[in-house]
Amino acid sequence: MSEQIPFLRPRPPRLSRLLRELEAIEDSGIYSNYGPVNTRLEAALTEQLFAGLGGCLTVNNATSGLMIALREAAQLDGERCFALMPSFTFAATAQAAIWAGLVPLFCDIDPRTWNADPDAEDLLRRRYAGRIACFVPYACFGNGLDLARYARIAATDGAGLVVDAAASLGTLDDHGRGFGAGFEHPVVYSMHATKTFATAEAGLIHCADVERLARLRVMGNFGFGRKREATMPGLNAKLSEIGALLALARLEDFEHVVTHRASLAEAYRTRLPEFSFQQPIGRRLAYQFMPVRLPDNTPPRDAIVQALAAEDIGVAHYFSPHLAEQAYFASQCVCGDLTETQRLSQRTLSLPMSDLMTEAELERVCAALRRACRT
Ligand SMILES: *Cc1c(COP(=O)(O)O)cnc(C)c1O
Repeated sequence: MSEQIPFLRPRPPRLSRLLRELEAIEDSGIYSNYGPVNTRLEAALTEQLFAGLGGCLTVNNATSGLMIALREAAQLDGERCFALMPSFTFAATAQAAIWAGLVPLFCDIDPRTWNADPDAEDLLRRRYAGRIACFVPYACFGNGLDLARYARIAATDGAGLVVDAAASLGTLDDHGRGFGAGFEHPVVYSMHATKTFATAEAGLIHCADVERLARLRVMGNFGFGRKREATMPGLNAKLSEIGALLALARLEDFEHVVTHRASLAEAYRTRLPEFSFQQPIGRRLAYQFMPVRLPDNTPPRDAIVQALAAEDIGVAHYFSPHLAEQAYFASQCVCGDLTETQRLSQRTLSLPMSDLMTEAELERVCAALRRACRT
């Protein structure tokens, strides 16, 4: 019997090793409400991941971060109601838009980068001129994005802009800075246990516009712009002090986590030359798992998944079904042409990755995948 290779092996920092720090929280009597541990965390994230530019606001998860950022950024006047986003993303992107009072408008992806296709976006911008309230690009699987272009089109169209960069903590842009560093619009990241920056439940909004960030902080605290008085829309999106402690501990070994995963990704690319991969944008990608596109003429994907399971190897298929294929979104949303989304979604497979995965395990996955694709 070979050892199991699960699809993901979440490995957040061990709270049991942080007894002293936990006692300090108990002694302080402060458990939440942007307390001292959270304040330290936000400063450390800004310094270490975003080159000291702008600021950071923690949230209890990326979904609430998207909800408040979208509510704040969307230009919901008159005819404007759409949130332009790819259909090839996670449910949270569209759910957050709907909670913010927007109607998701799904566009196609670029089959190379797997991000939203700029031509498809431009076509929908023309078709729905004056009706787009907010652009919501998704940095697919931790990939980079041309943020300057999004800032331009948002300004041209008089629309808001919020970036879903849920999986991009650890990704470096062309200058070697953290993806999103110093961007003037909100960029939202997840620190969920299954993401590269694994904690338990946590998220982060980074933005160069510190006044906007201050408004988002108020919105994340019930909209209390004055003492116990709501002055704007709000909800409870605060991160607990224990959550902040976990994130601080993760930050300590994060560089090691990301480089290990990047070397695994390189090994996957080298050992699977007949498969195609997402084209990376930027100097380095953070890998939550390894997404591949199956070659044509393989057995059906379900059969491949089963063959791998029989060899104790766990895989997944993000994002299949993509959003426009899911019942609730199909009933609530508007779609552009989704030809490339459909093609990729049907052929994509997500291969295992984890902080502790070895090259030997990776070789086993690749050999089993080859066998499964030949049968
Ligand atoms: C994981 C993910 C989210 C949600 O993050 P949470 O922190 O779990 O709320 C949102 N969008 C995308 C694209 C994701 O992958």
